[in-house]
Amino acid sequence: MNNPLVEARGVKVHFSERTSSVMDFLVRRRRIIKAVDEVSLSIERNETVALVGESGSGKTTFGRALVRLYEPASGSIIFDGTDITRLNQKELIPFRRRMQIVFQNPYSSLNPRRTVGRIIGKVLEVHNIPGREKRIKDLLSVVGLEASLVSRYPHQLSGGQRQRVAIARALAVEPELIVADEITSSLDVSVQAQILNLLSDLQRQFGISFLIISHDLAVVRQVSNKVAVMYLGVLVETGSVEDLFRNPKHPYTQALIASIPSTDIRSPWHPTELKGDIPSMVNTPAGCRFHPRCPYAWDRCRTEVPVLKDVSSSGHAVACHLYDEGERNRLAGILNTPKQTEDAWMPTSQARARINWNCSKQLKQWMEFSSSSRTELG
Ligand code: SF4
Repeated sequence: MNNPLVEARGVKVHFSERTSSVMDFLVRRRRIIKAVDEVSLSIERNETVALVGESGSGKTTFGRALVRLYEPASGSIIFDGTDITRLNQKELIPFRRRMQIVFQNPYSSLNPRRTVGRIIGKVLEVHNIPGREKRIKDLLSVVGLEASLVSRYPHQLSGGQRQRVAIARALAVEPELIVADEITSSLDVSVQAQILNLLSDLQRQFGISFLIISHDLAVVRQVSNKVAVMYLGVLVETGSVEDLFRNPKHPYTQALIASIPSTDIRSPWHPTELKGDIPSMVNTPAGCRFHPRCPYAWDRCRTEVPVLKDVSSSGHAVACHLYDEGERNRLAGILNTPKQTEDAWMPTSQARARINWNCSKQLKQWMEFSSSSRTELG
């Protein structure tokens, strides 16, 4: 098996910030924000991996750390066999050409004082790439823009055109990996489709690998091969796009997928409401970070951190105690109770001592929601 193009191993990115407390000021104490906590993810050559989750889940921070715009506090990032977290800025220059990032907002990521030609030409200049004029025109043509736009300023372009210029700038150095951070979120729906088609074309044409960062699962489904779901700085589920959309396992992923609006009148849309906001990164909940919002949480979830484990041979992995072998046996015990009344969801006498009635009611909701899990556990 080939080595992945890039592999993050247990990456942590922490930031420190001042608090408003006088005591903290006097003792120079700062609070730590754990934006990314032990995230491991690999991207193969010619593969598109999507990183999804709500705002504030740490997706952008991880994407920036992957191309070393942020310094990881620990862990390593292996790019084509080299640990780039150990390199100094000078040693990193050749790798900068091989991995690029396209930022979320094309209105702020392009210098408003430079023309399109200067914006793209600057990258070619920094990396000493000859034949600039022809190359700029070629790049504009690759991203579907007229060569005549070369003398325009960003404010003279539409949102879609600006994002294409940002993509052309990233392509200028012929990268092998592009981190695309919410690149369609500020665009109209029709323009979003054009940009997504452009990414697919670029991958076919140049074999580029992409990390697509998005909170929009409809976008992700269209363009990616693999999906990683992030919640409050940790990965909670990873798998192929088919596994994740057909058989989401983690309650958070199930809620995210259920929130995609459906236009199919044969299957009316029943969005699952996720209660509450994503908690602060400063005081992350103990145990499973999702437990304050999870409808199936029980005692164990509040104390024990679930580990990302494979749940199928296809590489589908989930971090949730519900898929733990011991819990599955316990649930099977509950489900095998023959009486089909509410008591059917009561634990067996052996399990009754371990869990309470509220928990079994939550399990009932969960089993009704996830018919695939019902088959697996029954
Ligand atoms: Fe919910 Fe517990 Fe699974 Fe976390 S571990 S997602 S709280 S059931």
